[in-house]
Amino acid sequence: MTQINGVLGPINPDDLGFTLMHEHVMVCASGLLESYPDLLGQDREARAIATLKKAHDEGVDTMVDATTFDLGRNPELLRTVAEGSGVNIINVTGWWLDVPRFLNGVGPNQMATEFIRDIEEGFRGTDIKAGVLKCAADFEGVTPSLEVMARAVSRAHNETGVPIMVHSFPTGQVARQQIKIFREEGVDLTRVKIDHSNDTTDTEYLKWILDQGCYLGLDRYPGRYVSPHMRTVTLKRLMDDGYGDRLCPAHDCICLHVHKEQPDGSIPEEHEFTRMNPEQYLYIHRFVIPDLLEMGATEQDIKTLFVDNPRRFLAGE
Ligand SMILES: [Zn+2]
Repeated sequence: MTQINGVLGPINPDDLGFTLMHEHVMVCASGLLESYPDLLGQDREARAIATLKKAHDEGVDTMVDATTFDLGRNPELLRTVAEGSGVNIINVTGWWLDVPRFLNGVGPNQMATEFIRDIEEGFRGTDIKAGVLKCAADFEGVTPSLEVMARAVSRAHNETGVPIMVHSFPTGQVARQQIKIFREEGVDLTRVKIDHSNDTTDTEYLKWILDQGCYLGLDRYPGRYVSPHMRTVTLKRLMDDGYGDRLCPAHDCICLHVHKEQPDGSIPEEHEFTRMNPEQYLYIHRFVIPDLLEMGATEQDIKTLFVDNPRRFLAGE
């Protein structure tokens, strides 16, 4: 059976349990934690451990941490937090949206080689291996530098079999461009998950993605552009239309983030995302699952979404 690379070592797919497929312990910028840690508030490790421990106590077993290099990835922090909280964490490699100008001219094969090393040998200076690949495009669509990353991630996937999660922008139907690249690269689309898909209620577009074979990350809760309830209505509609075995709800929650100075000069103890979602990694347990059950979903449907789908997507079997 395929083992999945977690930050504490290989995970047997049957041990994943209740899995949130798109979360973050920390999001900042590459090197920020090392150079300007206080921007991320005080007691960083302790806060992250306490938050994930609470999530673990209420039933979260595993999280995919979608923090790439350009989002400030720190695998050792994730290991400490996984050890301290009991939550299994799987870290990604690949790239989000911030491609620095110094990478202009670096090609997809070069980047693929680096990503493959993150998967097979571990993030440099550690023995922690990446368990998922990630690439991204947003409102500007797939820019030339993001296309290099998408092709690099595709090639690393073809080489290693590790699945791909994709930051996308549903309002602009950007997954159409991203899926075209994956097809050109020969990627198995049943190993691709198009994320942030519940920032729209356009089920015609979402079903087009599903009909290509991809999974959908319905991974913004409570989110900003669509109300939480309409997100769940859209999720349930897709389940009712027979797509329940390829949907992955999550929060895209960030525990450690930059604390921003207020107009009066004060710096809040909690960053703005936590103020917007005080439930953090438990919003789904406390609001979405009850809402789904109210709409007629069964306990088995819930298990499909949070246990079976993650296991099938991550293990590829
Ligand atoms: Zn994210």
